[in-house]
Amino acid sequence: MTTAQFITPCPKQIEWKEGEFALPSDIGQTKKPFSCYNRLITKELHSIIGKGSFGLVKIRIDDGAVDAPSVPSQAYMLKVSQEGIEISANTETGVLYALQTLRQLKRGPRRFACVSILDWPDAELRIAARPLLCGEATRSALEWGDGKAALMRRWRHEIDFALRYRYNGIFVHGFTWDTNAWRGFASDMRKLNDYARQRGVRLIFGGYGIGHGGWGEQAYIGEAHAFLPGFGHSFKQDYPCSQNNPNDPSTAFNGTCRGNAELRRMKVEEAVRFIKAVRPGALYIHHEDQSDFYAECQPYFWDRRCPICRKKWPDDALEAADGGAGAIADGYNVYCEACAKVKSDDYDASMDCALLLCSPCYGSTNTSPEEWSKIETLWLNIARQMKGGGNVFFGMREQFAEIDGEGRLERLSRLLRENGCPQRLMTFFVSGAALYGDNAVFSSLPAMNGAVSSGNGAMFDFSGVLFQRPQQLFNSECSWNIGCREGGEALPLNDRKQLFDEYAARLAKRDMVFERHTTKDGWLAKACELLYGQKAGKLMFEYQLLRTPHGDGPLALLYQQIVMERLKEKLSSPPIPDANPASLKRPVASYADAAARWGEQAALTKRAVRLVSKASSMVSGWLGEELAHQAERLRIGAETAALVERLYRRRDGENMPAETLRRSLAKLRRMMLALPHDYPSKNDGDGSLDMDYLAILDDCCNDGR
Ligand SMILES: [Zn+2]
Repeated sequence: MTTAQFITPCPKQIEWKEGEFALPSDIGQTKKPFSCYNRLITKELHSIIGKGSFGLVKIRIDDGAVDAPSVPSQAYMLKVSQEGIEISANTETGVLYALQTLRQLKRGPRRFACVSILDWPDAELRIAARPLLCGEATRSALEWGDGKAALMRRWRHEIDFALRYRYNGIFVHGFTWDTNAWRGFASDMRKLNDYARQRGVRLIFGGYGIGHGGWGEQAYIGEAHAFLPGFGHSFKQDYPCSQNNPNDPSTAFNGTCRGNAELRRMKVEEAVRFIKAVRPGALYIHHEDQSDFYAECQPYFWDRRCPICRKKWPDDALEAADGGAGAIADGYNVYCEACAKVKSDDYDASMDCALLLCSPCYGSTNTSPEEWSKIETLWLNIARQMKGGGNVFFGMREQFAEIDGEGRLERLSRLLRENGCPQRLMTFFVSGAALYGDNAVFSSLPAMNGAVSSGNGAMFDFSGVLFQRPQQLFNSECSWNIGCREGGEALPLNDRKQLFDEYAARLAKRDMVFERHTTKDGWLAKACELLYGQKAGKLMFEYQLLRTPHGDGPLALLYQQIVMERLKEKLSSPPIPDANPASLKRPVASYADAAARWGEQAALTKRAVRLVSKASSMVSGWLGEELAHQAERLRIGAETAALVERLYRRRDGENMPAETLRRSLAKLRRMMLALPHDYPSKNDGDGSLDMDYLAILDDCCNDGR
């Protein structure tokens, strides 16, 4: 009887065979380890099949060994028969991926299911994790205050996790080119990058191509595009050119001028310095953080360029080759030039450092057809004028719309190819559970990746933040398998319009878990079991589905709701009864409603504490430690939610004794102080902000007195 096992990401072609391969118990140290392969392959083999069994595994690495329709460099063939195991791949990465699948075929201590697999990913770069507190580059969520050694250990686990589930992109740090973010930062990151590269994983560092943190001085404890004052200020010019933030004319001085040769030279130097010091797997670069062609990029970026830029790029059309496209290409060439300058025996930045270039003009979700055609022309004209580009990806926001039956991003990828441009696209898909517009535990929406796919370039689902292991697996599943097929997770593309409507409605209602993911035999339940084992897996599955009637998740991280959504401002402003509840900052419809909402969340978070702390006692190793930490943060979240509920009840007119609030605040302080607070950098970790959160809450308590 052949039984299919759960494997994620699911291999493209899989044929289950009769029987099992059982490793003999008396094999001894017969064969020499694979001296010809890298040490990592040998190490992985050890951990999967045990020492001394190598003779039963045949490995062939040979360019051309495996024929795959996309990304052949990561494809593999894996055959497990009763006689032994055979692996073929074009590269060592393919072998490493085959071994991860083999690991999931294990049925018992020395027994593997018999199977024949041919597998390859649909996208070359699959960015499934973003362990940050805010946006795509701010605040390391892996920072728990237990010191730098523990932080580095956690990062290595994060990289191992990526390899184990076959994704290869993780956002790590930003938005600054500071190589001294903490003492020893450059060398710590260099080691981490080397560790990741051996595992085929790119660690992504974000920063601005223009001089200074995007939107200027509107910082609120470090939002993605506006840093703590002082961060990110590297270059300015003393005349205005190309305003970045439409509301802030001072941002036209922030190193924005593309025509200033001295400034450009300094930027190349800065990039070379950073790349040399850190040896990153990828740089994620924003210039002006503007999405719309007509509303932002043309009037603020291009119409406001300085006389030098006008002379150099005379065309007033943003999309023209000797207009905006020329200037943008020149600004991005800075990074291609910098990469070309960093090359050593074991690191060649023009290959080892991918450039993920976003903005200006990455498009809003489903931009109008007319505007999209401009954006298409713009990026084609940028691509044609760039030097190098095999390592370049243009970042674009999700586009569900199609042109003649072809997705917009797929079409643009094809046009780039047909025009002989080596650059590819990266889809930046806001697919829910992003700790940005919502704090959902899990989102099924990456199943829609196919609708917004940019072909075999890069896929980035904007989730996979802290405490989202199953989400990271799902992002990987849906980026490895972007195309729809029977029994797979990807949704069919019969009707992209309908798909988009469902996407928008689900985001608006914060209802992001598909029915099929709520069942005990669905992908999500199986993934939880795979991660945490049977018993803890059940509890963690239950946790994934936690959601209040208002659509909120348990409060595991305070950053979004206390800082980003500006709790203090909301508490001191009048309610907005007709505001769109789906908008980013969750406006308060009425104080009573807000109180109810926080009350629900407090109760839900208490339930979450029980589930997660019970699960943590059943799971060993670093995943168990992560669950224990999660339970700690959830306890703090539950107390915080209960306190905020009281604040809104008071705002609604209820008599709330100051003593009650003071006691709650004091309890919260004790819980926070009980945790370690050894942070390498003030700009890191949820816990590093604990005293800031307390100060905000304290202010809120005093405000209504
Ligand atoms: Zn200029």
